[in-house]
Amino acid sequence: MVGRRTAGEKGFFRQVLRFVDAAAPHAGLPADLLEQVRACNAVYQMRFPVRRDDGSIAVVEAYRVQHSHHRTPTKGGVRFSPEADQDEVMALAALMTFKCAVVNVPFGGAKGGVRIDPFAASDGFRERVTRRYAAELLRKNFLGPALDVPAPDYGTGEREMGWIADTYKAMRPDDLAPFACVTGKPLTMHGIPGRREATGRGVYFGIRECLERAEDLKALGLAPGVAGKRVVIQGLGNVGSHAARCLAHEGGAVIVGVAEREGGLFAPDGLDVEAVLRHRAETGSLCGFPGATPVEDPARILELDCDVLVPAALECQITAENAPRVRARIVAEAANGPVDADADAILRARRVLVLPDLYLNAGGVTVSYFEWLKNLSHASFERMNRRLEELHTRKVVAAVERLTGSSLDEASRQELIRGPEEVDFVVSALDETMILAYEQIHREWRSRRLPDLRTAAYAFALRRVGASYLAQGIFP
Ligand code: NAD
Repeated sequence: MVGRRTAGEKGFFRQVLRFVDAAAPHAGLPADLLEQVRACNAVYQMRFPVRRDDGSIAVVEAYRVQHSHHRTPTKGGVRFSPEADQDEVMALAALMTFKCAVVNVPFGGAKGGVRIDPFAASDGFRERVTRRYAAELLRKNFLGPALDVPAPDYGTGEREMGWIADTYKAMRPDDLAPFACVTGKPLTMHGIPGRREATGRGVYFGIRECLERAEDLKALGLAPGVAGKRVVIQGLGNVGSHAARCLAHEGGAVIVGVAEREGGLFAPDGLDVEAVLRHRAETGSLCGFPGATPVEDPARILELDCDVLVPAALECQITAENAPRVRARIVAEAANGPVDADADAILRARRVLVLPDLYLNAGGVTVSYFEWLKNLSHASFERMNRRLEELHTRKVVAAVERLTGSSLDEASRQELIRGPEEVDFVVSALDETMILAYEQIHREWRSRRLPDLRTAAYAFALRRVGASYLAQGIFP
């Protein structure tokens, strides 16, 4: 993978701890409590045999790490990657703890990693690996609605989450809410509309919030607003593709560059996002997309001139080596850990604003929280609210018509009184979450005069996690 330093080489967990330690003096936790908050509470490393399509056996290495039990269940995605290792999974689990605290969802952080190549695995092999992984987790009480709830991450999606739910249900037939054991499931398996897009949409909401603060933007030489901003995106998977769609279609941003593993595209007047995604789906590659300049080495995409750079692929993409060449004014961390600690210092010195991962990509876990609530309650948000809201609006419309003496045409009346569907609740609650969390970390940044938003987000999260431990009387 071009431009990528693997987590093992650099110590991704150590990178996360460097960010924690930079924020710790601003969080005010006692030393023993801080030591507990930094540590990974439980690490489960497993190896299991899975039959390949040709009949031979692969011994698969996999992990589940629960970073913090200050709140349960623990929550975090499962990654399929040939580079997944314990260090990477520990780092991602720790990030989940602080991410959940920033957006105030009641989970401890966890993460899973399965060391297979998701792009080479057949459907059958993927299914066998996923089901066996779920069974291994269950055997050790690392899976369940009250224990630990996985979700999609790099290399996994709805299908894998459906297999996990199905395996759990088969092995725990007495569980009243078996579908709450995993989120990001297909709609037909009690998923929630809006989860697929949630992380990318949250990235868009977060960038939009940042681009509304005129005083911060002045220092960057940018005007407020998403519309017209030149955006470059690395990685067009789940997170990157939905972030691209929302930024372009809802925000009016101009996507001037994109990259995937095989190469990149640059078009100063903007790319048609849907056409690019269609081209890749049809041909399996970005290469050959008409009307754009090809970028042979996808790592070079990170160095294009733009207003907002959105790394949405993997960690350790921007390091001390290439950080001096980043020309974006804002780096929006859609992926987990795309900027390492050395690069972070370089970008700060160069006055590049970094929107940190633990805030920016928290939309996924936020909507996962809604899905978990729905699965526990066995009732959709729409069912409980839609009719009531329609009745209320109908009364308001009738009152306004009475007062003004004029009446709406039928089409406009229907449009106005149409009650919210489940996806409307999900999107508005996600929007509210991202707005509130940005206000909180921004206030922390400015009022405490902290060096940057990342330090502010970590300080805020550390205080929240610490308070939760204290509330349980563990640290009297
Ligand atoms: P995904 O597998 O759907 O997509 C990742 C994409 O990145 C793939 O298309 C892959 O080909 C591409 N890629 C890999 N290396 C690349 C490179 N060097 N240059 C360009 N493209 C490259 O994964 P995802 O779910 O979109 O996750 C992406 C990142 O977002 C990860 O860091 C993940 O941890 C993080 N994240 C995901 C979620 C979620 O809900 N899926 C939530 C929070 C954070």
